[in-house]
Amino acid sequence: MAAKIIDGKAVAQQMQEEFKSEVRQLQEKEGITPGLTVVLVGEDPASQVYVKNKGLACQKVGIQSFEHRLPADTPEDELLKLVDRLNGDDRTHGILVQLPLPKHINEAKILNAIRPDKDVDGFHPVNVGKLMIGEADFLPCTPAGIQELLIRSGTQIEGADVVVVGRSNIVGKPIAMILCQKASGANATVTITHTRTRNMAEHTRRADILIVAAGRPKAITADMVKSGVTVIDVGVNRLPDKKLCGDVDFDGVKEVASAITPVPGGVGPMTITMLLKNTIKAARLLHKK
Ligand code: NAP
Repeated sequence: MAAKIIDGKAVAQQMQEEFKSEVRQLQEKEGITPGLTVVLVGEDPASQVYVKNKGLACQKVGIQSFEHRLPADTPEDELLKLVDRLNGDDRTHGILVQLPLPKHINEAKILNAIRPDKDVDGFHPVNVGKLMIGEADFLPCTPAGIQELLIRSGTQIEGADVVVVGRSNIVGKPIAMILCQKASGANATVTITHTRTRNMAEHTRRADILIVAAGRPKAITADMVKSGVTVIDVGVNRLPDKKLCGDVDFDGVKEVASAITPVPGGVGPMTITMLLKNTIKAARLLHKK
Protein backbone atom coordinates (compact mmCIF):
# COMPACT_ATOMS: atom_id res chain seq x y z
CA MET A 1 0.00 0.00 0.00
CA ALA A 2 1.34 3.43 -0.90
CA ALA A 3 2.41 5.72 1.95
CA LYS A 4 0.33 8.51 3.47
CA ILE A 5 1.63 11.85 2.19
CA ILE A 6 2.51 14.25 5.01
CA ASP A 7 1.24 17.55 3.66
CA GLY A 8 3.56 20.27 5.00
CA LYS A 9 1.69 22.99 3.14
CA ALA A 10 -1.59 22.13 4.88
CA VAL A 11 0.05 21.90 8.33
CA ALA A 12 1.81 25.24 7.72
CA GLN A 13 -1.48 26.89 6.71
CA GLN A 14 -3.24 25.53 9.78
CA MET A 15 -0.47 26.78 12.07
CA GLN A 16 -0.46 30.20 10.42
CA GLU A 17 -4.21 30.47 11.06
CA GLU A 18 -3.48 29.72 14.74
CA PHE A 19 -0.78 32.44 14.77
CA LYS A 20 -3.18 35.00 13.29
CA SER A 21 -5.48 34.78 16.29
CA GLU A 22 -2.52 34.62 18.70
CA VAL A 23 -1.08 37.85 17.24
CA ARG A 24 -4.51 39.54 17.35
CA GLN A 25 -4.86 38.62 21.03
CA LEU A 26 -1.34 39.87 21.80
CA GLN A 27 -2.21 43.20 20.21
CA GLU A 28 -5.62 43.56 21.86
CA LYS A 29 -4.74 42.36 25.37
CA GLU A 30 -1.11 43.42 25.73
CA GLY A 31 -0.55 46.06 23.05
CA ILE A 32 2.30 44.06 21.51
CA THR A 33 2.79 43.74 17.75
CA PRO A 34 5.56 41.21 17.03
CA GLY A 35 8.17 42.52 14.59
CA LEU A 36 10.72 40.69 12.43
CA THR A 37 13.61 42.44 10.68
CA VAL A 38 15.30 40.60 7.83
CA VAL A 39 18.70 41.72 6.56
CA LEU A 40 19.77 40.78 3.04
CA VAL A 41 23.27 41.53 1.78
CA GLY A 42 23.79 41.20 -1.97
CA GLU A 43 21.56 40.08 -4.82
CA ASP A 44 21.52 36.29 -4.62
CA PRO A 45 18.25 35.40 -6.45
CA ALA A 46 17.31 32.49 -4.14
CA SER A 47 17.90 34.67 -1.05
CA GLN A 48 15.75 37.43 -2.56
CA VAL A 49 12.88 34.96 -2.98
CA TYR A 50 13.28 33.68 0.62
CA VAL A 51 13.29 37.23 2.00
CA LYS A 52 10.21 38.17 0.00
CA ASN A 53 8.36 35.05 1.18
CA LYS A 54 9.28 35.75 4.79
CA GLY A 55 7.84 39.26 4.50
CA LEU A 56 4.61 37.96 2.94
CA ALA A 57 4.20 35.28 5.62
CA CYS A 58 4.64 37.91 8.35
CA GLN A 59 1.99 40.15 6.77
CA LYS A 60 -0.42 37.22 6.54
CA VAL A 61 -0.39 36.60 10.30
CA GLY A 62 -0.11 40.25 11.41
CA ILE A 63 3.60 40.34 12.30
CA GLN A 64 5.28 43.63 11.34
CA SER A 65 8.10 42.97 8.91
CA PHE A 66 11.04 45.22 8.16
CA GLU A 67 13.74 44.71 5.55
CA HIS A 68 17.25 46.03 5.10
CA ARG A 69 18.71 45.34 1.67
CA LEU A 70 22.42 46.15 1.49
CA PRO A 71 24.79 46.05 -1.48
CA ALA A 72 27.06 43.00 -1.89
CA ASP A 73 30.18 45.07 -1.09
CA THR A 74 28.87 46.26 2.31
CA PRO A 75 31.81 46.19 4.75
CA GLU A 76 31.55 43.78 7.67
CA ASP A 77 31.78 46.68 10.12
CA GLU A 78 28.74 48.35 8.62
CA LEU A 79 26.69 45.15 8.92
CA LEU A 80 27.79 44.76 12.54
CA LYS A 81 26.65 48.34 13.24
CA LEU A 82 23.24 47.58 11.70
CA VAL A 83 22.87 44.43 13.83
CA ASP A 84 23.79 46.47 16.89
CA ARG A 85 21.11 49.06 16.02
CA LEU A 86 18.51 46.32 15.55
CA ASN A 87 19.51 44.76 18.87
CA GLY A 88 18.32 48.00 20.49
CA ASP A 89 15.27 48.59 18.28
CA ASP A 90 12.05 48.09 20.27
CA ARG A 91 9.91 47.30 17.23
CA THR A 92 12.25 44.45 16.21
CA HIS A 93 11.69 41.31 18.27
CA GLY A 94 13.37 38.96 15.82
CA ILE A 95 16.47 39.57 13.69
CA LEU A 96 17.26 37.35 10.75
CA VAL A 97 20.38 37.84 8.66
CA GLN A 98 19.82 35.93 5.44
CA LEU A 99 22.58 33.40 4.69
CA PRO A 100 24.81 32.93 2.81
CA LEU A 101 26.65 36.22 3.26
CA PRO A 102 29.23 37.51 0.74
CA LYS A 103 32.66 35.88 1.20
CA HIS A 104 34.37 38.95 2.73
CA ILE A 105 31.97 38.86 5.71
CA ASN A 106 32.57 36.44 8.58
CA GLU A 107 29.19 34.75 9.06
CA ALA A 108 29.92 33.50 12.56
CA LYS A 109 30.91 37.00 13.69
CA ILE A 110 27.61 38.42 12.43
CA LEU A 111 25.45 35.64 13.90
CA ASN A 112 27.23 35.98 17.25
CA ALA A 113 26.48 39.73 17.27
CA ILE A 114 22.71 39.17 17.25
CA ARG A 115 21.18 39.34 20.74
CA PRO A 116 20.37 35.74 21.71
CA ASP A 117 16.87 36.81 22.78
CA LYS A 118 16.22 38.18 19.25
CA ASP A 119 17.90 35.25 17.47
CA VAL A 120 14.77 33.75 15.89
CA ASP A 121 16.87 31.55 13.57
CA GLY A 122 18.27 29.80 16.67
CA PHE A 123 21.85 29.85 15.32
CA HIS A 124 23.54 31.89 18.10
CA PRO A 125 25.89 29.70 20.18
CA VAL A 126 23.87 30.56 23.30
CA ASN A 127 20.73 29.14 21.69
CA VAL A 128 22.61 26.13 20.31
CA GLY A 129 23.85 25.44 23.86
CA LYS A 130 20.38 25.89 25.35
CA LEU A 131 19.02 23.33 22.88
CA MET A 132 21.75 20.90 23.94
CA ILE A 133 20.70 21.10 27.62
CA GLY A 134 16.98 20.99 26.87
CA GLU A 135 16.26 24.64 27.72
CA ALA A 136 15.80 26.13 24.26
CA ASP A 137 13.88 29.37 23.79
CA PHE A 138 14.27 29.25 20.01
CA LEU A 139 14.64 26.01 18.08
CA PRO A 140 16.24 26.39 14.64
CA CYS A 141 13.38 26.65 12.15
CA THR A 142 13.85 23.69 9.79
CA PRO A 143 14.41 21.06 12.52
CA ALA A 144 11.59 22.55 14.59
CA GLY A 145 9.33 22.26 11.53
CA ILE A 146 10.30 18.59 11.13
CA GLN A 147 9.39 17.84 14.75
CA GLU A 148 6.06 19.63 14.35
CA LEU A 149 5.28 17.63 11.17
CA LEU A 150 6.02 14.38 12.98
CA ILE A 151 3.83 15.35 15.92
CA ARG A 152 0.92 16.67 13.85
CA SER A 153 0.96 13.64 11.53
CA GLY A 154 0.53 11.39 14.58
CA THR A 155 3.92 9.68 14.20
CA GLN A 156 5.05 7.72 17.26
CA ILE A 157 8.29 9.49 18.21
CA GLU A 158 8.80 8.27 21.77
CA GLY A 159 11.00 5.17 21.76
CA ALA A 160 11.32 5.23 17.95
CA ASP A 161 14.59 4.46 16.20
CA VAL A 162 15.33 7.67 14.31
CA VAL A 163 18.09 7.76 11.71
CA VAL A 164 19.24 11.17 10.46
CA VAL A 165 21.22 11.37 7.21
CA GLY A 166 23.39 14.51 7.36
CA ARG A 167 25.19 16.30 10.20
CA SER A 168 24.98 19.98 9.29
CA ASN A 169 24.62 22.60 12.02
CA ILE A 170 21.33 23.83 10.55
CA VAL A 171 19.49 20.52 10.03
CA GLY A 172 21.17 17.20 10.85
CA LYS A 173 22.70 17.91 14.26
CA PRO A 174 19.85 20.02 15.69
CA ILE A 175 17.04 17.64 14.62
CA ALA A 176 18.98 14.78 16.23
CA MET A 177 19.35 16.83 19.42
CA ILE A 178 15.66 17.84 19.45
CA LEU A 179 14.35 14.29 19.05
CA CYS A 180 16.58 12.75 21.72
CA GLN A 181 15.52 15.25 24.42
CA LYS A 182 13.77 13.93 27.51
CA ALA A 183 10.52 15.64 26.54
CA SER A 184 7.17 15.03 24.90
CA GLY A 185 7.41 14.91 21.10
CA ALA A 186 10.91 13.48 21.55
CA ASN A 187 12.43 10.63 23.66
CA ALA A 188 13.63 8.89 20.48
CA THR A 189 16.79 6.82 20.01
CA VAL A 190 18.76 8.75 17.41
CA THR A 191 21.59 7.81 15.05
CA ILE A 192 23.35 10.46 12.95
CA THR A 193 24.93 9.35 9.66
CA HIS A 194 27.13 11.16 7.11
CA THR A 195 29.52 10.55 4.22
CA ARG A 196 31.98 8.64 6.42
CA THR A 197 29.32 6.27 7.75
CA ARG A 198 30.07 2.61 7.01
CA ASN A 199 27.19 0.49 5.68
CA MET A 200 24.71 3.36 5.38
CA ALA A 201 21.84 1.06 4.33
CA GLU A 202 22.25 -1.04 7.49
CA HIS A 203 21.46 2.07 9.52
CA THR A 204 18.67 3.42 7.32
CA ARG A 205 16.93 0.00 7.25
CA ARG A 206 16.64 0.06 11.04
CA ALA A 207 14.83 3.39 11.10
CA ASP A 208 11.24 3.79 12.25
CA ILE A 209 11.66 7.46 11.30
CA LEU A 210 14.19 8.39 8.60
CA ILE A 211 15.15 12.06 8.24
CA VAL A 212 17.22 12.84 5.17
CA ALA A 213 19.16 16.12 4.85
CA ALA A 214 22.04 15.24 2.53
CA GLY A 215 21.51 17.59 -0.41
CA ARG A 216 21.88 14.63 -2.84
CA PRO A 217 19.01 13.65 -5.18
CA LYS A 218 17.89 10.02 -4.66
CA ALA A 219 20.46 9.37 -1.91
CA ILE A 220 17.81 7.09 -0.35
CA THR A 221 16.18 4.38 -2.46
CA ALA A 222 13.44 1.84 -1.69
CA ASP A 223 15.90 -0.98 -0.91
CA MET A 224 17.42 1.18 1.89
CA VAL A 225 14.27 1.50 4.03
CA LYS A 226 12.12 -0.90 6.01
CA SER A 227 8.44 -1.43 5.45
CA GLY A 228 6.29 1.02 7.43
CA VAL A 229 8.99 3.68 7.96
CA THR A 230 8.06 7.38 8.21
CA VAL A 231 10.31 9.39 5.88
CA ILE A 232 11.02 13.11 6.20
CA ASP A 233 12.81 14.41 3.10
CA VAL A 234 14.52 17.74 3.84
CA GLY A 235 16.52 17.95 0.61
CA VAL A 236 15.85 20.60 -1.99
CA ASN A 237 17.70 19.88 -5.23
CA ARG A 238 17.27 21.54 -8.60
CA LEU A 239 17.42 19.01 -11.46
CA PRO A 240 18.81 19.88 -14.93
CA ASP A 241 15.18 20.21 -16.18
CA LYS A 242 14.71 22.89 -13.43
CA LYS A 243 12.29 20.70 -11.44
CA LEU A 244 12.76 20.46 -7.67
CA CYS A 245 13.38 17.12 -6.01
CA GLY A 246 14.32 15.89 -2.55
CA ASP A 247 17.03 13.52 -1.35
CA VAL A 248 14.71 10.51 -1.41
CA ASP A 249 13.58 8.50 -4.43
CA PHE A 250 9.97 9.45 -3.70
CA ASP A 251 8.26 7.15 -6.23
CA GLY A 252 10.11 4.05 -5.05
CA VAL A 253 10.17 4.76 -1.30
CA LYS A 254 6.48 5.69 -1.06
CA GLU A 255 5.60 2.07 -1.97
CA VAL A 256 7.43 0.80 1.13
CA ALA A 257 6.98 3.62 3.69
CA SER A 258 3.87 4.23 5.78
CA ALA A 259 4.23 8.03 5.55
CA ILE A 260 6.46 10.39 3.56
CA THR A 261 6.89 14.13 2.95
CA PRO A 262 6.88 15.35 -0.66
CA VAL A 263 9.31 17.88 -2.17
CA PRO A 264 8.12 20.53 -2.66
CA GLY A 265 5.29 20.84 -0.13
CA GLY A 266 6.77 18.93 2.81
CA VAL A 267 9.40 20.43 5.11
CA GLY A 268 9.83 23.66 3.08
CA PRO A 269 6.61 25.46 4.11
CA MET A 270 7.27 24.55 7.76
CA THR A 271 10.57 26.45 7.93
CA ILE A 272 8.98 29.89 7.48
CA THR A 273 6.12 28.89 9.76
CA MET A 274 8.51 28.13 12.62
CA LEU A 275 10.23 31.48 12.02
CA LEU A 276 6.85 33.15 12.64
CA LYS A 277 6.40 31.06 15.78
CA ASN A 278 9.84 32.10 17.09
CA THR A 279 9.13 35.77 16.35
CA ILE A 280 5.87 35.70 18.31
CA LYS A 281 7.67 33.95 21.18
CA ALA A 282 10.51 36.52 21.10
CA ALA A 283 7.95 39.35 21.33
CA ARG A 284 6.31 37.74 24.37
CA LEU A 285 9.63 37.06 26.12
CA LEU A 286 11.07 40.54 25.43
CA HIS A 287 7.97 42.25 26.81
CA LYS A 288 8.25 40.26 30.04
CA LYS A 289 11.78 41.64 30.62
P1 NAP B 1 24.95 20.42 4.07
O1 NAP B 1 25.46 21.44 5.01
O2 NAP B 1 25.54 20.30 2.70
O3 NAP B 1 25.12 18.99 4.79
C1 NAP B 1 24.82 17.80 4.13
C2 NAP B 1 25.13 16.65 5.05
O4 NAP B 1 24.76 15.44 4.41
C3 NAP B 1 26.60 16.52 5.41
O5 NAP B 1 26.72 16.23 6.79
C4 NAP B 1 27.09 15.38 4.55
O6 NAP B 1 28.10 14.59 5.18
C5 NAP B 1 25.84 14.53 4.43
N1 NAP B 1 25.78 13.77 3.17
C6 NAP B 1 25.87 14.23 1.90
N2 NAP B 1 25.74 13.22 1.02
C7 NAP B 1 25.54 12.11 1.74
C8 NAP B 1 25.37 10.75 1.41
N3 NAP B 1 25.31 10.34 0.14
N4 NAP B 1 25.20 9.88 2.42
C9 NAP B 1 25.24 10.27 3.70
N5 NAP B 1 25.41 11.56 4.09
C10 NAP B 1 25.57 12.45 3.11
O7 NAP B 1 23.39 20.53 3.85
P2 NAP B 1 22.20 21.10 4.79
O8 NAP B 1 22.34 22.57 4.91
O9 NAP B 1 22.04 20.27 6.01
O10 NAP B 1 20.97 20.82 3.82
C11 NAP B 1 20.65 19.51 3.38
C12 NAP B 1 19.55 19.59 2.34
O11 NAP B 1 18.40 20.14 2.93
C13 NAP B 1 19.88 20.50 1.13
O12 NAP B 1 19.29 19.95 -0.02
C14 NAP B 1 19.20 21.80 1.50
O13 NAP B 1 18.84 22.56 0.35
C15 NAP B 1 17.98 21.29 2.22
N6 NAP B 1 17.41 22.25 3.19
C16 NAP B 1 16.08 22.47 3.12
C17 NAP B 1 15.49 23.34 4.00
C18 NAP B 1 14.02 23.57 3.95
O14 NAP B 1 13.52 24.51 4.52
N7 NAP B 1 13.28 22.72 3.26
C19 NAP B 1 16.26 24.01 4.97
C20 NAP B 1 17.63 23.73 5.05
C21 NAP B 1 18.19 22.83 4.14
P3 NAP B 1 29.56 15.16 5.56
O15 NAP B 1 29.36 15.99 6.80
O16 NAP B 1 30.35 13.93 5.83
O17 NAP B 1 30.02 15.95 4.38
